[in-house]
Amino acid sequence: MRRQIIIGNWKMNGSLLSIKSLCESLTKLAHESDVADIAVCVPSIYLPYVQTNLKNICLGVQNVSQYNNGAYTGEISTTMLQDFNCRYVIVGHSERRAFFGETDEDIANKTKQVVQAGLTAIVCVGETLEERTTGNLQSILARQLQVVLNKLSTKELEKLIIAYEPVWAIGTGLAATAHQVQDVHRYLRKIVTNFDEELAKNIKIIYGGSLKPSNASELLSLEDVDGGLIGGASLNGKDFGQIIKQAKKI
Ligand code: PEP
Repeated sequence: MRRQIIIGNWKMNGSLLSIKSLCESLTKLAHESDVADIAVCVPSIYLPYVQTNLKNICLGVQNVSQYNNGAYTGEISTTMLQDFNCRYVIVGHSERRAFFGETDEDIANKTKQVVQAGLTAIVCVGETLEERTTGNLQSILARQLQVVLNKLSTKELEKLIIAYEPVWAIGTGLAATAHQVQDVHRYLRKIVTNFDEELAKNIKIIYGGSLKPSNASELLSLEDVDGGLIGGASLNGKDFGQIIKQAKKI
């Protein structure tokens, strides 16, 4: 059985003041929940603050450089993240693909960099509404995932979490239906099975896209769903706490 993981993606939100109060409410809820693993992916600049002020919740960030230390102005390396006890890195979020031109190849390189540093990469895959309605759902997902599978060894892939995030569901309030989510998660697991059966049994595939207290129980209870990646609702301690409580018990 795969233990569920609930991960917050704060995106480029917050200030020192608002993050202070979010850390206080999250510290309380971490004590109440033993159901799932919990992590928050914070804006990198707040990593030291959150490391000091948030207890019992794992730390992550939303992006990292695909390069080692050196002349890469503006970048942050995996080594720097390790100095602050960072364990998770979101890679290939659709906002990075769409707004910052990240390619499948960049994403595969970043993923390799992350797992080789011993961190866990949360690799996001997902289709736009147009790709879904024109019948390209499976080919898009297969392409996005296959590039990463090809780049990493089986051992390295053990440090991978796959996040299915339909682009049309992110930040829109309109989550995918349970049927759509289970269908895609089963398909993604099948792709991993073709690659390595044992890996497919253990790899976590989590769902993201307008996950909230009102739909968490239905979506998190699906057979191939091993947790959630939560944007908007993770900025509210109460909502995030309610989602965590609905994670599947094992
Ligand atoms: C996300 O951006 O990863 C996400 C899932 O956002 P939201 O929950 O706000 O749709």
